[in-house]
Amino acid sequence: MITAPAMTFREWDGPLTTDLVREPAKFGLGQVPSRLVPDATTKAICGFCSTGCGLKIHLKDGEAINLTPDPDYPVNLGTACPKGWEALTVLDAPDRATMPLLHGQPVDWDTALKYFCEKMREILDKHGPEAAAFLSTGQIMFEEMAFLGALAKFGMGMLHGDGNTRQCMATAVTAYKESFGFDAPPFTYADFEESDVLVFVGANPCIAHPIMWQRVLQNKRNPKIIVIDPRTTETAMAATQHYAIKPKSDLTLLYGIAHLIIREGGLDAAFIRENTNGFEDFEKFVADFTPDRVAEETGISTECLAHFAKTIIAGTPRVSFWWTMGVNQGHQATRTAQAIINLALMTGNIGKPGTGANSITGQCNAMGSRLFSNTTNLLGGHDFKNPRHREKIAAATGIPVERIPDRPSLAYDQIIKAADEGAVKAIWFVATNPSHSWIDQNEMNRILDKLDFLVVQDMYCTTETAKRAHLVLPAAGWGEKEGCFINSERRIGYSPKVCRAPGQALADFHIFRLIAHYWGCEEMFRGWQTPEAVFRVLQRCTEDQPCDITGIEGHAQVRKLGGIQWPAKRMTNDEWRMTNERRLFEDGKFFTPDKRAKFVFDAPVEPPEQRSVEFPLILMTGRGTSAQWHTETRTGKSAVLAKMMPEELMLDLNVDDAKRLGIRDGAEVRVIAKRAELTVKVRLTSCVKPGEVYLPMHDARVNQLTHASFDPHSRQPSYKHSAVRVVAK
Ligand code: SF4
Repeated sequence: MITAPAMTFREWDGPLTTDLVREPAKFGLGQVPSRLVPDATTKAICGFCSTGCGLKIHLKDGEAINLTPDPDYPVNLGTACPKGWEALTVLDAPDRATMPLLHGQPVDWDTALKYFCEKMREILDKHGPEAAAFLSTGQIMFEEMAFLGALAKFGMGMLHGDGNTRQCMATAVTAYKESFGFDAPPFTYADFEESDVLVFVGANPCIAHPIMWQRVLQNKRNPKIIVIDPRTTETAMAATQHYAIKPKSDLTLLYGIAHLIIREGGLDAAFIRENTNGFEDFEKFVADFTPDRVAEETGISTECLAHFAKTIIAGTPRVSFWWTMGVNQGHQATRTAQAIINLALMTGNIGKPGTGANSITGQCNAMGSRLFSNTTNLLGGHDFKNPRHREKIAAATGIPVERIPDRPSLAYDQIIKAADEGAVKAIWFVATNPSHSWIDQNEMNRILDKLDFLVVQDMYCTTETAKRAHLVLPAAGWGEKEGCFINSERRIGYSPKVCRAPGQALADFHIFRLIAHYWGCEEMFRGWQTPEAVFRVLQRCTEDQPCDITGIEGHAQVRKLGGIQWPAKRMTNDEWRMTNERRLFEDGKFFTPDKRAKFVFDAPVEPPEQRSVEFPLILMTGRGTSAQWHTETRTGKSAVLAKMMPEELMLDLNVDDAKRLGIRDGAEVRVIAKRAELTVKVRLTSCVKPGEVYLPMHDARVNQLTHASFDPHSRQPSYKHSAVRVVAK
């Protein structure tokens, strides 16, 4: 067991362990990447969710003392959710990692870094480049995540690396790539305000993206709001139409709606003809999705299906489709996302104000991860397998082309499987907590405990994963370092350093620079001395890609303009500077070779784990409240946020099921799956239907119950369909 060192180094500003760490410039490592800003107020981007709200940070003597939402930032327009308001508080938690910990004991950085490099080198030398992997995060700045990906793969010679974005956005990435030719969410947040109909599929923005929901509330077009969700969520309660489908029957429903739109003549035939491929085959495919069949399989009446289809039929001026985890975390997630894209394409709802097939991202820098993590894609949305792309990235980064692998990484679940089989022997986790968050948790922890070397680099030394680590590297958090995030609408935003990290914790960026030095590959990264220098490198990597950002002058311009959406290409007339809100595909041209979007589809199949006599209920998991964030590594540290969330884990159980089982409101029950069981209190509700139960994901025990299945295309885990039974205690 690892325990936090007894001493706390808050505001510790004395010398670090070695001259190398204290005065990196002496060693050609550049300066510590950022300095406190001296102004009375400075601006930052929130480091929790993908909304990317602007915050004003108020400083005294160069140190942050408070924050308020930024009224001038085009994303949040002066509002913030509880997490954003408490962003500074959680930095002061007593369990911050303040020193490196080796087998639970505090050590200096010199010892930690030497051990890290010796151990990783030993494993890679003995077992080859597939024997060590990194698992990154959507929580660090994109200059940092690019450095991690480049260091691990090009510098240290690892082949495999992925991120916790696999749990979140992999499906949207895969769906967009296949349908549009590039991972390209087309929208801008103004679309929330400019739609006549908003369709939310598996999304509960009232809780998960509350500031986006504020933008919906500012829509002056009296919009119809359609929610597709098995649960009567807060968003469903505010909707004009709610379709409470059977869990994971969304793909069938969406094909059924496509069938009805075709039958009722609601197509935008000109758009389909001029801008898409594959519609004829799709039309034949959905002919089988008759209203009677779809009603039977989804639980939605034929009358309701007809009403839904009529609401979004071509002729309604502006329809936008929005999805998030209810879609992305499914066993057929990619095809479900593409079924949404197909509806937008067939009704011509794309590339115009108030339209789009729009994936809402999860983490503050999930979009940055999609472009720059160097995991399954080569930097800038390139392909490891393409020799021209490798040459281009070698030229853009100055890294020898022979250092760039010619194949992509395994996906997250495949890395874990390889660890179970003994092929992967070391994993380096950065700012993520899979011992809590990964599906079928006991199995995950069993495999983590088999590793020869488990490294966790994080702000806190008490996460479930850090407690299992052989080595913990203490990292600075948001506000204690600088760099850029990319939000859901592709907006690059800059966040400065406004506080000192506690103890000897260092910015992830600086940790990567030190590892490059100790590994002996710092020469390869001589142009990567500051986050802004890496920003320049990454700009070159994007040249002539759909995400081209070569026209941005640097961090200062990102700050000055209130963020900049990609693309922001270098052009003689700099067209993109004319507006701060831009959407993609306004010309009907997509990123496929022939510039046409593609209809992609597959037959629905049953979720892998079904109800049975022994396990008659379907468990769904997801967000609890707007005050909670993922594994609560940060939000669990705020007394203010604690007042806004339930004191303990509560199971949502339908009142009819409760009567049948003889369970009263507030009673303790056992929730039993094939894999594990846990004891919780019950909240009786009609927000879940009979036969279905719901648990928020923020309690460390919940993923002991979830069944590990994965979308075959995106490899994203499905958290929305596990079979359980509930028994009174
Ligand atoms: Fe931060 Fe997201 Fe809340 Fe905005 S909505 S304040 S980005 S957590």
